[in-house]
Amino acid sequence: MLLKEWFSKEKSMHMKYIALEKEYLMPFVERENYQISSKCRLHPDNDLFRDQEQHKIHVDINEWKCGYCKKSFRAERYLDQHFDNRHYNLLNVSEGKCLADLCGALHCDFVMNSKSPRTKCNPAAVAKNRHLCESLADRCFPLNQGRSASHLHELFLHQFCDAHTCSGKKKHFPKGGKKQTSVIYLAVSILTLMLLPLFYLIVYLYQREMRQGKQELRRITRVGQKTKPS
Ligand SMILES: [Zn+2]
Repeated sequence: MLLKEWFSKEKSMHMKYIALEKEYLMPFVERENYQISSKCRLHPDNDLFRDQEQHKIHVDINEWKCGYCKKSFRAERYLDQHFDNRHYNLLNVSEGKCLADLCGALHCDFVMNSKSPRTKCNPAAVAKNRHLCESLADRCFPLNQGRSASHLHELFLHQFCDAHTCSGKKKHFPKGGKKQTSVIYLAVSILTLMLLPLFYLIVYLYQREMRQGKQELRRITRVGQKTKPS
């Protein structure tokens, strides 16, 4: 594989991984107020593409500037393409910051396809990913580093490692994330706010209809009574 090709594959993995970490891990780490050690692969300093992200200059809504060569672009994706084409050689890969195997351990593909793959389960691959996942938990949230660390260790195993099984019974990311719940919450609130006036409108219209109906009936009976005796 060409180096450039490898980078583009690595970068798409990376984007998947970042999305996953943001949604299913960071809310819990923040809640525990825990500082991830730089020895951990999940630490931002071990992020291969962070340097690129820091060289993105957002000048205006429609202007993005490359921090390396100061060239301007109309959209962020053009700048991303520019990084891929011009500056991929600036990435520091010497320290083995490749995320592809990490992605296997953390189910990146599951997140992006949003359904489990139908391919046959390979016990050896599953065992390897599970081991990688558990060693990540040990390194990032060491059990001897206090209550927060051991709590996050347990959560990490539960959230990412337990699903590495061929039995297919374990759920991916059972705890969900901050983003997802807030979206559902927002949707429910908006729906309620929209339905409430509609409900009152229906009640109002119904009552008005009833009142009109009664008046109509009274008039008819009055007319009927007047004509009857003559
Ligand atoms: Zn540039």
